[in-house]
Amino acid sequence: MDLGIAGRTAIVNAASKGLGRACAMSLGREGVNLVISARGEEVLEATAKEICDTTGANVQTIVADVATEAGQDAVLAACPNPDILVNNCGGPPPGDFHDWTRDDWIKALDANMLSAIALITATVDGMIERKFGRVVNITSVAVKAPIPVLGLSNGARAGLTGFVAGISRQVAQHNVAINNLLPGLFGTDRVMAPARAQSEQTGKSIEETMAGFVSTIPAGQIGDPADFGEMCAFLCSAHASYIIGQNILMDGGQTNVTM
Ligand code: NAP
Repeated sequence: MDLGIAGRTAIVNAASKGLGRACAMSLGREGVNLVISARGEEVLEATAKEICDTTGANVQTIVADVATEAGQDAVLAACPNPDILVNNCGGPPPGDFHDWTRDDWIKALDANMLSAIALITATVDGMIERKFGRVVNITSVAVKAPIPVLGLSNGARAGLTGFVAGISRQVAQHNVAINNLLPGLFGTDRVMAPARAQSEQTGKSIEETMAGFVSTIPAGQIGDPADFGEMCAFLCSAHASYIIGQNILMDGGQTNVTM
């Protein structure tokens, strides 16, 4: 299927590894010009080269912490008028809610709620003027079903989800589609964090803990980031203008809900 976005320009944040990288790769394959960010320069540059070599896409790198205003400004200076915005950032650390201070909460809000809101706010008017815009926010299964050790994520991402529910319907008439993509358990560095936390709590090995995680997934396996990237690219496609304000779960059926 031709996604109809060749020649468009996308910002994909937190894209040197994992799910962000997979989204950038899929968009690159569709002929989208890319601006990708991460904090670590070396891995970011290696990823940009790999995406460019694999897909032939133009890839610009911005070393930035997108949880900060300075980082957001750096990304926007490189690409003030994106057609496509993929909001992503590192997830907050696991822990016990008794221990989280106001500072911990502010960090989680900056990373997983306010940075996405700031970037949407800065770019959506241009999308409206140009009559095309796609925003995908990488959130989490934790929005549908809270994960106890990831309370900071449960809370911060729920805030972003509420904002998106409203603004997506305000801008939809201009062919601007804003949606959230909710990963369950995907094979990235990030999945090891809750595994380590649970293994410390239970005394079971990480391997046993991971096997326990997989046993709760009807699809019987951990997700492939490449599939996540393809879904993201579809949500950014010309065909996605009628998908508005949705929370699309990719979790192998793990969340036991009817809708
Ligand atoms: P990952 O493999 O650890 O990759 C994270 C990427 O984000 C790296 O490129 C990292 O590069 C970059 N990054 C982190 N913090 C950043 C910041 N402040 N500014 C710019 N770049 C930043 O993680 P992932 O599994 O792809 O997860 C992506 C998001 O999905 C996270 O929010 C995670 O919590 C959420 N999620 C993932 C899963 C899963 O199964 N993988 C499930 C639910 C939710 P640098 O460190 O160099 O900046």
